[in-house]
Amino acid sequence: LSAAPPDYLARLNPEQRQAVETLDGPLLVLAGAGTGKTSVLTTRFAHLLMTGRARPWQVLAVTFTNKAAREMRERVAAILGQTAEGLWLGTFHALCARMLRRHAELVGLKSNFTILDTDDQMRLLKQIMEAAGGIDTKRWPAAGLMAVIQRWKDRGLTPARITPAEDSDYANNRARSLYEAYQRRLVELNATDFGDLLLHMAEILRSHPDVLADYHRSFRYILVDEYQDTNLVQYLWLRLLAQHEDPARRNICCVGDDDQSIYSWRGAEIENILRFEKDFPGARIVRLESNYRSTKPILAAAAGLIAKNAGRLGKTLRPGRKDAEGEKVRVVSLWDSEEEARMVGERIEQAQRRGHPLSQCAILVRAGFQTRSFEERLITLGLPYRVVGGLKFYERAEIRDAMAYLRVLHQPADDLAFERIVNTPKRGLGDSGLRALATLARAEQIPLARAAERITEADALKPKPRTALRELMQGFARWRQVNETEGHVVAAATLLDESGYTDMWKADRSPEAPGRLDNLKELLRAMGDYASLAGFLDHVALVMETDENAEAERVQLMTLHAAKGLEFDTVFLPGWEEGLFPSQRSLDEGGDKALEEERRLAYVGITRARRTAIISHAANRRIYGNWTSAIPSRFLDELPEEAISREGQSTQRSNRLAETPSVFTGAQGLLARRPRLTEVNPWDQRERPPRATSLAKGERVFHEKFGYGTINDIDEDRLDITFDHTGAKRVLDRFVRKASE
Ligand code: ATP
Ligand code: MG
Repeated sequence: LSAAPPDYLARLNPEQRQAVETLDGPLLVLAGAGTGKTSVLTTRFAHLLMTGRARPWQVLAVTFTNKAAREMRERVAAILGQTAEGLWLGTFHALCARMLRRHAELVGLKSNFTILDTDDQMRLLKQIMEAAGGIDTKRWPAAGLMAVIQRWKDRGLTPARITPAEDSDYANNRARSLYEAYQRRLVELNATDFGDLLLHMAEILRSHPDVLADYHRSFRYILVDEYQDTNLVQYLWLRLLAQHEDPARRNICCVGDDDQSIYSWRGAEIENILRFEKDFPGARIVRLESNYRSTKPILAAAAGLIAKNAGRLGKTLRPGRKDAEGEKVRVVSLWDSEEEARMVGERIEQAQRRGHPLSQCAILVRAGFQTRSFEERLITLGLPYRVVGGLKFYERAEIRDAMAYLRVLHQPADDLAFERIVNTPKRGLGDSGLRALATLARAEQIPLARAAERITEADALKPKPRTALRELMQGFARWRQVNETEGHVVAAATLLDESGYTDMWKADRSPEAPGRLDNLKELLRAMGDYASLAGFLDHVALVMETDENAEAERVQLMTLHAAKGLEFDTVFLPGWEEGLFPSQRSLDEGGDKALEEERRLAYVGITRARRTAIISHAANRRIYGNWTSAIPSRFLDELPEEAISREGQSTQRSNRLAETPSVFTGAQGLLARRPRLTEVNPWDQRERPPRATSLAKGERVFHEKFGYGTINDIDEDRLDITFDHTGAKRVLDRFVRKASE
């Protein structure tokens, strides 16, 4: 018998080992969450190098994110004991960009081509549409064309390959010729968009057998993670690279889980898994069944939920951890989103006190706007956090735009803010118009907003932008009035509507647009927490200011989509309410398809947790200061009772708001069961009674985070307090109450 296997193999279970050591021929690893698919792929990579089967540059390894690529690179290096150079390891896009630089001339590009971002792409499409002429852009906005083109690119369709069946009725069947013009223009500019990277490479491999043969010679092994989420063009590219003329050299290994397919909205096709055996006859399939990530109750909860989906390939998932016993999955019912954020914050603090690193706590949300309440809570508690795969709430473009409008509303002399919004949405104010405005402002030594009010026919501004500017400035005067009479929330809502800002995003058909509109609504909700516009602006300025140590341990906030493939000790899954999760869109669509994808997303969420999973839902959400009751997510009912423990006021299912759908009976019923909240009147426009009025200078108070202290000064809703143990701080009044020492 041969010597004992090397350490990196000894660590694996028999099935995993089989998947690592079956090096020849096509192999599909089909297995549930946390069974070691990514670990197998990484070990296989190292094993290929260790056994001399391949040199580092002879393996092509595809990951779903750049982060995953980095991790795989590190893990391979750890096994090898050194970093390997020249690896073909990265996302589909990164790998294709690198290849395309080598063959750019085959599609008419130079190797130093630029990759355009979505903004540039949109600008270009608009130019193309204008040049084509006769398109009603209100009815057929450029973003719609962008979406059509992206879908074609996801399916590997160059203009020449579009069949009548694939054609689009956009702008009365003009999409295809616009697509053609767009592609031509990109080549003239020596540029590509993201979709082109794959499209061009698939096309090159299809029509240049010599290039393909070169790659067949050099890539001996292909490894693909998260295979269930590949779209058609990615699949074509992979198949081309893997279908070596010698069947004995078709060494492609894909790992995936049909239950974790969550990107169909980006063109991912789960059928690729089914197609694998057909395209690669004799493919072997390995199943991994032991989950090493999560405790038994977490797995039971996830399994019970996903069992509700029809048409699954079917897999077994057994607890494989030595310490698989563990606490049940908690389902916590809370009064409102603020209480939900407070619960999450408290538990993270507890975990921290018990010595758990913050980076092992993750908050996974369904929709981007949800991060706001958690971010504010974490800031209040002084817990550092990071929004993975996205921007922090107040750094998002639409929020910055809206904040700039509010700043001008509050303070017309805020030139920076004014510059940001004066031509957003477009008001025909080109560079020359802005220069005219700036010249006038300088000459008269007045703020830009004043100059905008004064600008006249003499000031070198064309009639159209002049009218637009006049309307904008009249708007601001009106909105200030509304602020006086009806309050800042109504003023902000009116402003966003009347300035055309909301419409700008409504007309935008890019996949991000609905999320941006949700963020704007969330901003209005947040404003409702403050007594005045000034108070809110100050609050945001303070929130934005919190400086961060890049190295610090941080709580991880992200969407469920961004969490794929990751794992954390403690996972919070907030907002499990109908219309939020499952999303309203999936419900509106009707049918099971969209709903099943939401359920897979829930499955992905639960299976990210190693030890602790806490699912929560709020019974009430506030919309523009008004309460509405929220119905708990159907997914909560689908969790097996034996795997969960319910906490909070609606511990009994018969209490569910779903059965008392009226807003009135629902919320009153809850109030009756929750005496400590009877002070809150849900029909009041305000969230909570203002507290600052009852506090006075010199008074002793208690703060949730900083403990006891004495008030030095009061400035609207902010208090300067000297705390007994932590010194002087400026805090928000709503976190302070009178001391009852
Ligand atoms: P996902 O479907 O979520 O992407 P996965 O199948 O890729 O999950 P991995 O991330 O590779 O699973 O592994 C999950 C966890 O289990 C990791 O922490 C990994 O280190 C651990 N693990 C994998 N195999 C074993 C094993 N044989 N023994 C102990 N731990 C293991
Ligand atoms: Mg994985």
